[in-house]
Amino acid sequence: MATKKYVYAFSEGKAEMKGLLGGKGANLAEMTNIGLPVPPGFTISTEACKEFYNAGRKFPEGLEQEIEAKVAWLEQTLNKKFNDLSGPLLVSVRSGAVVSMPGMMDTVLNLGLNDQTVTALADSSGNARWAYDCYRRFIQMFGNVVLDLEHHKFEAVLEDQKHKRNVEFDNQLTSEDWQEVIEKYKYIVRKETGSDFPQDPKEQLYKAIYAVFDSWENDRAIVYRKVHRISDDLGTAVNVQAMVFGNMGDDCGTGVAFTRNPSTGEKLLYGEYLTNAQGEDVVAGIRTPQPIAKLAEEMPDVYQQFAQTCTLLENHYKDMQDIEFTIERNKLWMLQTRNGKRTAQAAIRIAVEMVSEGVLTKETAINRVDPNQLNQLLHRRIDPTAKLEVVAKGLPASPGSASGEVCFDADLAEKLHEQGHKVILVGTETTPDDIHGMVAAQGILTSRGGMTSHAAVVARGMGKPCVCGCEAIRIDHENKQFMVGKIKVKDGDIVSIDGSTGEVILGEVPMIEPELSNEFQLLLQWADELRTMGVRANADTPEDAAKAREFGAEGIGLTRTEHMFMALDRLPIVQEMILANDIEERAEALAKLLPMQEEDFYGILKAMDGLPVCIRLLDPPLHEFLPNAEELAVEINTLKLTNGDPAKLSYNEELMRKVRSLSEFNPMLGHRGCRLGVTWPEVYAMQARAIFQATARLVQEGYKIETEVEIPLVIEVKELAYLRQLVIDIADQVKQETGVDFHYTVGTMIEIPRACLLADEIATEAEFFSFGTNDLTQTTLGFSRDDAEGKFMQPYIEKKILAENPFIVLDRKGVGKLMQWTVDNARRVKPDLLIGICGEHGGEPSSVEFCHMIGLNYVSCSPYRVPIARLAAAQAAVNNKDQSK
Ligand code: PEP
Ligand code: MG
Repeated sequence: MATKKYVYAFSEGKAEMKGLLGGKGANLAEMTNIGLPVPPGFTISTEACKEFYNAGRKFPEGLEQEIEAKVAWLEQTLNKKFNDLSGPLLVSVRSGAVVSMPGMMDTVLNLGLNDQTVTALADSSGNARWAYDCYRRFIQMFGNVVLDLEHHKFEAVLEDQKHKRNVEFDNQLTSEDWQEVIEKYKYIVRKETGSDFPQDPKEQLYKAIYAVFDSWENDRAIVYRKVHRISDDLGTAVNVQAMVFGNMGDDCGTGVAFTRNPSTGEKLLYGEYLTNAQGEDVVAGIRTPQPIAKLAEEMPDVYQQFAQTCTLLENHYKDMQDIEFTIERNKLWMLQTRNGKRTAQAAIRIAVEMVSEGVLTKETAINRVDPNQLNQLLHRRIDPTAKLEVVAKGLPASPGSASGEVCFDADLAEKLHEQGHKVILVGTETTPDDIHGMVAAQGILTSRGGMTSHAAVVARGMGKPCVCGCEAIRIDHENKQFMVGKIKVKDGDIVSIDGSTGEVILGEVPMIEPELSNEFQLLLQWADELRTMGVRANADTPEDAAKAREFGAEGIGLTRTEHMFMALDRLPIVQEMILANDIEERAEALAKLLPMQEEDFYGILKAMDGLPVCIRLLDPPLHEFLPNAEELAVEINTLKLTNGDPAKLSYNEELMRKVRSLSEFNPMLGHRGCRLGVTWPEVYAMQARAIFQATARLVQEGYKIETEVEIPLVIEVKELAYLRQLVIDIADQVKQETGVDFHYTVGTMIEIPRACLLADEIATEAEFFSFGTNDLTQTTLGFSRDDAEGKFMQPYIEKKILAENPFIVLDRKGVGKLMQWTVDNARRVKPDLLIGICGEHGGEPSSVEFCHMIGLNYVSCSPYRVPIARLAAAQAAVNNKDQSK
């Protein structure tokens, strides 16, 4: 049997091999093959990583021989050798997952250095300071990543040395200083591990590769994957690449750049670099770097070559690139390129501009924006008219605004978040170990680091506001406070940050509702041209309806009428209706409710003039409108003990009897939905009358009204037939009374499996179906959402029993199967039956795609998610051309 191939020279790969070579490896290969200056190297595949785990953390057979062969090839290519004193081979070892996980995985640079090769390097370069600096960095990184020694142990030695020499920066230390530091580092290694720092480059290499494989399962990588929904099974590739050095002097440097601004999308080379520095220095945010434009002054030739390379890469990939480079003695080397992470605002602008530049088609452009990311733009921002106490300004690293309690510790941030507090995580910089705190925080504020620092990259990925490099704030970790000028801000004090301007503001600030930019509108217009499925909104008030329209809703897919019953002026009348002793008393209460409901429906129908509005008759159990039994018992007791108002006491006692009689063992499966309509038809009759009287008035006033009356929770065609007739009778009466003819339809929610199974029968009595996937998920899975999410959903997801929370992402396999069955069978008897969805899944992109695939006519979601649904529906249409019906 032919042995598997696990190792690929960069020249053997290409961009399309991302699954096998990881993002970094595949792009290094692509850059090599298009002739860019890439230091040579090879990639160990993700397949090798997977087999490493399958075999219980052991290298698969044949891997070592392949690595040996590739190292020999590298030695020959570069005319350098591991351990060779005349020209030692030095390499970097870096992880490279299929989906980029910035800062999550580990990197080792300068591998191949030891007590001998470092002196050889010092001699041959004539730069001993540099050579020893490289060696100490190597020991530090290897110590941390491979030997699992805590970073701060090494940092403490470094700080001591700087203190001893009375210098501020690392680059002020001399060769002798580094040699002293190295001895202390080696001592730490010996003391902590019981062994000397490994001197054999091959041993160093194998240990480093092992550690990169191992880092796939470290805590921060696991958390990152969870947050970004990256599969745990992908594994990481390992890239072994010849070193180039940005820290050999002032004609050297290293940096990262985006071909367009990742925050705003502006077409302008955007990035940062540091002279005389090595890779990690920029990203780690240790020194605040220079903007890339400065390179044009400092090294004009290199800058020009770099700018041309950036253009070439962007054109090649047809997407904004995030590029890492190093300059070694005025020579440019490309170390990485990948599609750059960007804010939603930038994603939209880049997609739209690339269409006008002729680079992308509209189909490709709409796929370049993640619908979930649009949330960032549909959120609130600081009211521009508000008077703000701006105390500092940092870099606008990730847009959006947030207010919260200052918190300096990631663990505490997580704890406070769990207790319902809103926090702003504040730190000098963040590291991958802070990821859980970043997830919990409303926003992130750092005093150091640039736009490509860890905090900035991760916050943008999460869509969280972030201000970084805010050097005006001086953090005092010991006393849990920061100073900004003379102002002291303590742990727990409220601050606000504006990630679009970089402003740091004292106290809580007023926020305003979002508006759609012109580019956003244009992208959505293209989405509307491409999608085949309608998008409606769930709205219960004229204000929500107007917002929905503004965001592009093509109708209302669900108006829940119970919210109207809950309004303070209605509740006493609703209670009166429930407490009624006989039908006359109830009729009196209903008569009071009728005009109120009529006004409710009038407002919504008018706001949606010309578009369909689906109004659902009362759904929740009646006890929801009555006081809580325990509270009522306390009130009754107090009245008794204090000899309170006898009339009030007797009313409360009557109320209590009713509360008891209506109380249910399981209200979700109790006396609700159309069962209320069957037992108390006069309630549905009142609602139908209110709907039709409002409709008749509006038609008379010249509006174009499309009313849909919806019966919830149906299980049986006879049930629907009975209630539908009731609605039709009322419509006929209103038509007669008003002399106005109007059009309306009657349909049902599909939210119980039996209704799905009998869809063909039920369809005969319905003019439309609307999937209530909130209830359909509960009834199909057999658990209530509140209990599931409060008690056992998390372990189900952690143990991978369920891939996703089915209340958020539609369970295609189970609930989806019922939906498919429903659509197919209902359309067999009524090919043109209008079918939509109004459960919360209607605004979730993966669920929207599924709805498209099974041929629904529309999705309906909350007004703020309408733009997300419009884009998701367009992507579904473009990406499922063959399946669409
Ligand atoms: C549903 O069940 O999906 C639905 C939309 O109804 P509600 O959430 O009001 O029960
Ligand atoms: Mg429901």
